[in-house]
Amino acid sequence: MVAWIAAMPEPIDFRTDDDFTASIWISPEAIGTMLNAASKAGRRETGGILIGRYGPEGWSADVVEATPKPKGSRSGRCWFQRSSFGLADLLERRWGEGLHYLGEWHFHPGNAPTPSNPDIRAMRRVASDEAYRCPAPILVILGGSPKYEWRLSATLFRDDRVVTMKQHSLE
Ligand SMILES: [Zn+2]
Repeated sequence: MVAWIAAMPEPIDFRTDDDFTASIWISPEAIGTMLNAASKAGRRETGGILIGRYGPEGWSADVVEATPKPKGSRSGRCWFQRSSFGLADLLERRWGEGLHYLGEWHFHPGNAPTPSNPDIRAMRRVASDEAYRCPAPILVILGGSPKYEWRLSATLFRDDRVVTMKQHSLE
């Protein structure tokens, strides 16, 4: 039985307020997709890519969409290997709507949403791989349990820095 998340979650805003100002907004739809994918994945990791747009001022990004895992992805309790199946076509369609690849997300079942060393290495490879056309990718990690207590983290990889974003109240 798959427990679908019935209620639409609230959007989540992440910020950093030192000399390096950045913000990341995550849509309710993207959060809902991640929660549902994690519910289905149970005790295994799962993940996908983040799609959205950059804001007009400073460094800000709106994550409009998170995809479920592409076909052919592999996973275990503490690892996830995302396939690229179908993503080029999807990104081409989204590009027509003004939306781009922004980064990656994955689920840490029952664990904290803290990026592991392999997570950080993988995102640095994305940042330096010209095929992604994304020099400052975002990593969103969903931790805990999607049915009970879950938490999201957002980390920005930019200019060789690993920037841990803080959840910001929208009120
Ligand atoms: Zn991880």
